[in-house]
Amino acid sequence: MTEVRPTPPGLPPLVLVDGLHIHSKCATCLPAKCCTYIAVQIDGPRRMEDFEDYLWFVAHEGVSLYVDGGRWYLQFETRCRKLGRNNLCSIYDNRPKVCVAYTPDNCDRDDPARYAREFRTYEELLAYARKRFPNFTTGGQRAAARRHKVATVRARRVVRPRRAPAGA
Ligand code: SF4
Ligand code: SF4
Repeated sequence: MTEVRPTPPGLPPLVLVDGLHIHSKCATCLPAKCCTYIAVQIDGPRRMEDFEDYLWFVAHEGVSLYVDGGRWYLQFETRCRKLGRNNLCSIYDNRPKVCVAYTPDNCDRDDPARYAREFRTYEELLAYARKRFPNFTTGGQRAAARRHKVATVRARRVVRPRRAPAGA
């Protein structure tokens, strides 16, 4: 790997790989970590009910939530279809703005656990929801409680003795 171009201060040098000028740090990042997920900003949970949807999100494989700078993000682990087998972007000169803006001076490779909070599993988020709202219950728990209540009322009806008819 030979350095072929100077770069602005703070950025790794550019090297030529398969005809593309990429940063030397990226040339050794396999697979290119920043090209294997997408993240979209969402509203943070304010009410107890908000956690219901978020729990549903993180119950899915490859879906997680994280908080960065006070903002909440929904993240999907999914390899970009434009990331070639050689670990290079196959549409480099036509890539989206968000990819152009992302630089290796402070990137995912440096500190994978850099978020203030991260919820990768249902259990992690449920524990957090219960910490925020101690009386938090899931939809499933509430439905089970309702079933139990109905079953108890029916059982009471069955065992209640009938009144003897008047004059008997
Ligand atoms: S910017 Fe960082 S995470 Fe992305 S390919 Fe380069 S070194 Fe890897
Ligand atoms: S378009 Fe290219 S740079 Fe952007 S995520 Fe996909 S492979 Fe990476």
